[in-house]
Amino acid sequence: MTTTTTPGVLSFEDALARFDPTLGLEVHVELNTASKMFCSCATGFGAEPNTQVCPVCLGLPGAMPVVNATAVESAIRIGLALNCSIASWCRFARKNYFYPDMPKNFQTSQYDEPIAYDGFMDVDVDGETVRVEIERAHMEEDTGKSLHVGGATGRIHGADYSLVDYNRAGIPLIEIVTKPVRGTREQAPTVARAYVAQLRDLLLGLGVSDVRMEQGSLRCDVNLSLAPAGSDVLGTRTETKNVNSLRSVERAVRYEIGRQAAVLSAGAKVVQETRHWHEDTGITTSGREKSDAEDYRYFPEPDLVPIAPEREWVERLRAALPEPPREHRARLQRKWGFSDLEMRDTVGAGALGLVEETIAAGASPASARKWWLSEMARRANEQGVDLAELAVTPADVARVQALVDEGKVNDKLARQVFDGVLAGEGTPDEVVEKRGLAVVSDEGALSAAVDRAIEANPDVAAKIRDGKVAAAGALIGAVMKEMRGQADAGRVRELVLEKLS
Ligand SMILES: [Zn+2]
Repeated sequence: MTTTTTPGVLSFEDALARFDPTLGLEVHVELNTASKMFCSCATGFGAEPNTQVCPVCLGLPGAMPVVNATAVESAIRIGLALNCSIASWCRFARKNYFYPDMPKNFQTSQYDEPIAYDGFMDVDVDGETVRVEIERAHMEEDTGKSLHVGGATGRIHGADYSLVDYNRAGIPLIEIVTKPVRGTREQAPTVARAYVAQLRDLLLGLGVSDVRMEQGSLRCDVNLSLAPAGSDVLGTRTETKNVNSLRSVERAVRYEIGRQAAVLSAGAKVVQETRHWHEDTGITTSGREKSDAEDYRYFPEPDLVPIAPEREWVERLRAALPEPPREHRARLQRKWGFSDLEMRDTVGAGALGLVEETIAAGASPASARKWWLSEMARRANEQGVDLAELAVTPADVARVQALVDEGKVNDKLARQVFDGVLAGEGTPDEVVEKRGLAVVSDEGALSAAVDRAIEANPDVAAKIRDGKVAAAGALIGAVMKEMRGQADAGRVRELVLEKLS
């Protein structure tokens, strides 16, 4: 693989020749509970700003929080699915810092007593299994959202004014933190991506979140440090915040490896800091110097009772967990008849869930895989987005395949149907209608076109009459051209041979 080199960034190959990367991933997942973590406000996405708020989530004096039992249950189920121990007793803690979109001036979180700890997830990467150890999964609440208006970048610098929406403040979050992931070498970017993808599948399977990275209900912070190759010491790490697509997770890791390698190779030191990820340029830039935990003045939250889940309840939740993603994948592979390579490509492309839904919508496994891994993958790549972000649904793909199976469109026209769906022209059937894409099934029109082709190509027609059937391709091509591709090539071939036999 070739790597383009940006100033101040070592090529990926040179960086790995000198340094070993260590990864750490922090994933915040918004739970899909109907109400917030500590109050009964609604949690729906996209409501008018500041319409889903109350004295508790606005942090008004005297307001008292009450824990959302469903959120605790979801936290325990996530912990169990990640093979964690579940605390028999734990508390919330106040994490004190000032931020304009955090009305209480502290975030209710967990500190040294997380609800779940010491787990692992086995991640499949290029046919190998990498065990990612989980440090902890803890409960906390989300902050509000600031909107900076008037600047070019959408950041506060250069903005004319800022608006704050507290609808998100208090939505339950689970933060899942890995232990340092070492020894992944050149696979570090793909391991990071595969971990987040598999975690997303796991959370989706648990039904605890809608895990939409583009809407921020799954957010990933990427920690990365480099140590001299072969060394046991951990280097200074940076934390790249809010890397909000699978593709970006991979790119951000790759970029930070090259950037830190250039800093260290020049004899300088990596600054411990948070960094911003820039989706458009594919680089990170310096954010703020990272505070250590003691700067947050954590202390136990006095307004909430401790959480002491009964063991029987935990065991009931464990027994009712859905099939884990890896076992699920193995079962699907058998059911669909995919080879190991086909399955690996499907998972690697982040297409497993999409293929599964497309099959559920009526497509055959082979056609579902074909569309997502070729045509859709190419378009996602062109647009620089993940497959799931394309403006086409599994139901659309299944419908287009059905149109192909019914002989209403051929493969070439099917691609044009997707053009229309992606351009927002409606459902596949609407696009076929509006663009006039259906194949010509009018036998009279086809027959006339074949006659014209025969008349225009007497030499070719003579060869076919003499039994040189292979020459039919030229006539079929002429008919298809006249019909602008909107004919069933198989039927055209039959007509040509009937007429010249
Ligand atoms: Zn509220």
